[in-house]
Formats: sequence, C-alpha cells, structure tokens
Amino acid sequence: MLVTAFAGLLDQPLTRYVPGTSPHSTVALLGKELGITTVGQLLDHAPRRYIRRGRIQALTDLVAGERTSFVARVESSSTRRMRSDPRRSLTDVVVTDDSGAQLKITFFNAYSAQKDLPVGSLALFTGKPGLYRGELAMTGADYAPVETPESVAGSTSESGELLPIPVYPEAGKLTTPRIAKVVHQLLLTADLDSLDDPLAPELLAAERLPPLGQAYRDLHRPETVEACEAARRRFRFQEAFVLQSELMRRRAEHSTHPVDPRPLRADGLLARFDELLPFELTAGQRDVGEQIAAELSGTSPMNRLLQGDVGSGKTVVALRAMLQVVDSGAQAAMLAPTEVLATQHHEKITALLGPLAAPGQLGGDPRATGVTLLTGSMSAAARRRALLDIASGAAGIVVGTHALIQETVQFAELGLAVVDEQHRFGVEQRDALRDKAGQVPHTLVMTATPIPRTVAMTVFGDLDVSTLRELPGGRRPIDTFVVGLAEHGPAWENRVWALAAEHVAQGRQVYVVAPKIGDDAALPPFTSLRASLEAQQDEPEPATVTWLHELVAARPELRGARVSLLHGRQDTQTKADTMAAFDTGEIDVLVSTTVVEVGVDVPNATLMVVVDPERFGISQLHQLRGRIGRGEHASTCLLVTRLPPEHPARARLDAVAATTDGFELAEADLRLRKEGDILGASQSGGRSGLRWVGVLRDEELVARARAAAEDVVREDPELSAHPVLRASIERVLDEDRQAFLERG
Ligand code: ADP
Ligand code: MG
Repeated sequence: MLVTAFAGLLDQPLTRYVPGTSPHSTVALLGKELGITTVGQLLDHAPRRYIRRGRIQALTDLVAGERTSFVARVESSSTRRMRSDPRRSLTDVVVTDDSGAQLKITFFNAYSAQKDLPVGSLALFTGKPGLYRGELAMTGADYAPVETPESVAGSTSESGELLPIPVYPEAGKLTTPRIAKVVHQLLLTADLDSLDDPLAPELLAAERLPPLGQAYRDLHRPETVEACEAARRRFRFQEAFVLQSELMRRRAEHSTHPVDPRPLRADGLLARFDELLPFELTAGQRDVGEQIAAELSGTSPMNRLLQGDVGSGKTVVALRAMLQVVDSGAQAAMLAPTEVLATQHHEKITALLGPLAAPGQLGGDPRATGVTLLTGSMSAAARRRALLDIASGAAGIVVGTHALIQETVQFAELGLAVVDEQHRFGVEQRDALRDKAGQVPHTLVMTATPIPRTVAMTVFGDLDVSTLRELPGGRRPIDTFVVGLAEHGPAWENRVWALAAEHVAQGRQVYVVAPKIGDDAALPPFTSLRASLEAQQDEPEPATVTWLHELVAARPELRGARVSLLHGRQDTQTKADTMAAFDTGEIDVLVSTTVVEVGVDVPNATLMVVVDPERFGISQLHQLRGRIGRGEHASTCLLVTRLPPEHPARARLDAVAATTDGFELAEADLRLRKEGDILGASQSGGRSGLRWVGVLRDEELVARARAAAEDVVREDPELSAHPVLRASIERVLDEDRQAFLERG
C-alpha cells in the first residue's frame, strides 16, 4: 500500500500510515512517551547514533560513565535475594560478544530480566556502565531481545552487506527495535519522494545535499555510512536555513518600521558628560560608541548586542547611548537582573552623572535629567513617585529590575532599552520592555558572557554584535588557584584562611562565595571544610552560605576581622546596607551567594574564595572572579573544592585557573559542556534549542545557511513565493521559539 502524499504529509497523523490502535501499540506509546503523533514528528525522531558493522562487539569499547548501546549474547544468568530486602531479588546477567569480553549487568526487575534474557539469547542493551571494584559493570540496562545483530535495524542491503544500525532516543518501553519497526513501516507506506522540499534544487546542488525524501530514508535506514552522513548534514543545513530565513524575514520586516531619529547634540547632556568624565574612553569604547551613536541617529531600530568581559566598561558605553536618547527628548531604560545590581547601577549612574542627574536643583546643570530607580521592593510612596516620573518624562533615565516591565509602568516616550547581563534575563522580559514603547525602541543588550559566533547568529539571529576586547588600563592580573581539599591535608585550608587574614591585615577586602542559600539546620557546623569532608561519605553537600558564614566567622585566622553575610533571601534593606558597608570598607570579609556575581564593583576587594566551585559553571566562575582585580592591587582567586582530583568537574576548575581571558573560557566551556545545553534556557531565554546544529562544529554551515537565507529574503522579503519554506518555519518553530523570535 502506498498512500499518495498530498500537501502536509508531514502533518498527517501517524495512525494513517502505521496500524496500531491498542493502547500498548508502539504508535500509542510514541504519542504517550515522546509526544510523537505525526508523520513528520516520527521522521524527525532521528537516531541518536548508529552501530556500525564490526562495531557490534563494542564491549571492549565501553567507557565507565558513558551511556552506550551494544549488542551482546547472554552467557549466564542468576537470580538472588537482595540482602537489604529479602522480599526482592536481583538478576545478574553476564553478557559477552564476539570479542570475548564480558560484562555483568544487574537488574532489579529480576522477574522480567530472567524471563526476557535467557542464556544464549542476543539483545541490544542500552545503559551506562560504571566501575565496581575496578571492573566495568552495569545496573539496570534497557534491553531489547534481537534475533541477530542485523535484525536490530531489520536487514541487510541489497548487496548483502550489513547496514548501520540506528539507535534511537528511547523512552520507557519504547526501545530502539520497536521504534525502528514503526519507522520502517512508515517508510514503506508514505510516499516521501513527493514531499515538498524547503531547500530549492539549486541550493541542494550547491551544498551537495540529498533531497528531503531521500534524506529521511538515509537517516533511518542508511545503505551506507556516507548516505547517512549526507542525510544528517542535510538536516543540519535545513535547520539552520529555515531558522535563518525566518530571522532574516523578521529583520527585513523590522527595518520597515521607522523610528524617530535620536541624533547627537553638540551642546547636550552627552557632550557635557564627556567633558566631566574622569577617565579616557578606551579605543573599543570609543568605536562601539560611535557605532551606536550612528545607529541611534538613524531611522531603523538599533538591535545591538554588546559583549565585553567583566570590567570592560560596558556601563559607560550604555550610559552614553542613554544620554544621546535623552538629549533628543526621549527616555532610556536599563534593565538589571537583580535588585542589588539595579540599585548599584542606579547609584553608579547617578554618581557618574553628578550635577547632570540633579534637575532643577541649585548647582545642577540646566541640561540635567532625572535618574529614577524602580524595583519590586520599594515602598508604595516611592513607587508612586517613580511611576509618576516615568510617566511624565521627568525621569530621562530609568533603572530597574523586572518590576519595570509590569503593566502599571508607563513611559512618556521610551527611546532606548538597555538590558544588562542578558544571560540572566529572560528574552520574554526583554521583549516585554520593548512593548512599553509605542514604537519599537532601540535595543542594546549587554553581556559579559562571550557568545560564540554560531550562537550569535542563531539565538541572537538579528542582533548586530559589538565586542569590547580590552579592559580599561590599570587592571592588575588575577592569579587563580584550585585548592583541592580532598587530596591535601588540613594545612592547605589553613593557608586559605590565613591568606584571607593577610589581605584583611593589608586593608584589603575578601569575598567568600558559597553555592547555596539553604537553611542553617541543613548541615552540621564544622570548624573547617576539610573536617566536613572527612565526615561525609560521598560527594559533599554543597556549602550553604549561612553555614559557611559561621565557619568563616569562627576561624581563628580571622579573629577580629569584620565578617558579614549577604544572600538573596535577605530583605532589601539588609542587602543594601551590607553592600554599602562592604563598599565603604566597613566589612572585611563578605560571605555571600552569587548575588555578587554580576556588576558589583568594590576595587578594594582583592581576594575571592569560592567554596565548592564545581557547583558553578565556567562563565559564572569567571563572573565571580571579575569582582576582584578591579583596583590598583594584585588579586587572587582561590577555587576551594572538596572533590577528588579525578572527578570530571575538576576539569572546569582547571580551565578557569588556566586563563582569565573570557573568550578562551567561553570556548573551553563549550567544549566541556554537552552541545545540547548551550542553547538551553540560559541563553535562549526559553526551552528552545537546536536539534541538529552544533554550536561548535557548525559555525561554517550556519554562516552558509545564513548567506543563502539572506539571498532568498532579499528577493522575497515576505517569503510569499516560498510557501514550502514558510510551512517548514511554522512546523519547526515551536511556540516558545516563535514567541522569542517575535521581536528578535
Ligand atoms: P562591565 O563591563 O563589567 O559592566 P563596568 O562598566 O562596570 O564594567 O566598568 C568597570 C569599572 O571600570 C567601572 O568602575 C568603570 O567606571 C571603570 N571604567 C570604565 N571605562 C573606563 C575607562 N575607559 N578607563 C578607566 N576606567 C573605566
Ligand atoms: Mg556591568
């Protein structure tokens, strides 16, 4: 039976092509376990990997901690009672393959394992081997009995050769063989060659890619490894191309909405500010500043991403842009991810502006404008006043947290939205702020996390990117050391606190950072981290900030030092008071959570001690480290870990210790992380991720797809002559991503 394709084959229900109405059928399970109900969704359920001929005896290739699939024969099977719970039993299955290697797999579901895996049977196993007494072993593998290794995929090719065996992402009872069987049926019944292709024939030819139907076949039942690779390349390219086409289309659409120009004024606030500025702008700040000034003067909305390492001076760049907008009679808003940061930005901007931020006051400048703070925890009266100033336009510059994007906030005329530390801020929130302006305001997004080019092109598709590469002069280098408490004696920890005491004795200040807030009762008190480690069997519980505060405050080395606590759950006043006290040097040692991660600026702080640093990502550690090295004194960062040296997370710490270059670290970060996480919530602002495109591997492919998409959109800005492409866009972009792309 060959069901003729018609428009929308991919959107047809799977049940039309593959029988299976019982609730236990594979088709039903696909819907239930994986949300796969249409032809397209199943075709797009790509194999995770392929078992290649000759690699079936992969038992010798297994690596502890790495999830894999392999085909093996059951050599022996025995069932025994669990010692801890005699009512339950375990089944130990020893499997072997052509290499002769053996692996013991222990099943807790003894009954079914015993039944499904008789001695001599062959099965495809999926699981994660571990090391037990120095030997590889596994508990609780997924398995699917098979007749012969080849029958995992179904067959051999016409030439009689063994085919690569696809291994699918599995879920529950949905094992690879079951999925493969349904896919096979679908390939037989659906006329894939009649599928409309979003990639034009010329593009396929230029990129040397197979057409859509062929690619689906080669993806699921490849005749050769090469065909399979070509298919996968095609889907990577297609994903990039479809996404880029949509981004380009939206960019073209944006540029048709004119905005009011905000030209530079020779005698305005900005000009006066530049005169008053106590330092010279760096070359980078000047260049980016000119670029921004030109864009603000134009009639299409600026959409710029400003990336620069911590301390590279992004704030000044943003402030100058804001002043230019205020000069033209509009308002500028700056969104910060936390209250601490918003408050700091507000203070900083007010201080930088000096007389320019005191409108109507004696001694103020006639050009002065109001700088207003709006956060969630302000008193009702202060809030009302702030809202009034924002609505009337008396506040030329508004700094705030997400409170800024609440519905009650009305701007007189919002001309520029600056979003600080994008990675901490949801894209939706950025969008909401832009909604506050009657017209699309200019947007400047700032991030201290360098964004690889591929991500910039995809996630931030239609943003133009500027980078501040140099730090303002006079910065001292930061020495970073990993202090491994597991492998060193207590003397090492004593040296950590002694060093803190030394810094304090020299009049400097110290940050001690804990990964968790937690409550006081969660962990028993200890006099040293090292002692806490000895008391714990497995990986240590992450240090909580209150616990760490007690530990630090009680250290004999720090007797007499003023030690304080700061974390996000404190009330706003306490937080503000503590930050202010640290700022003015009334606190020597600040034990805190990552509330100090971004933007906090105390040049006198010269030592950063991060406890359990493995709980943080590379970029977070880099951010934390950026809190020091901001003044004239040399600074030190200690990453104090209780993990053993062989723990994989230690690699991240070594990477951070090896360089202070944010861009190098971003690269290391990418390499050490799984590709899939890169586009996770942190940067895309939603759950949307790319399925095919690899952020490291595919930079070039994305660039080519982008160029191809640019060509298409230049000719046909609304894609009206490209219905198939439009349909692909609709299908590929889930709602999340749609919402995200809406404003780019
Ligand atoms: P970030 O890029 O991390 O936001 P900031 O804008 O907070 O960096 O700048 C860090 C510090 O450097 C601030 O104290 C700021 O006033 C100062 N700064 C910025 N630009 C310069 C410059 N060109 N010369 C000297 N100091 C500068
Ligand atoms: Mg900053």
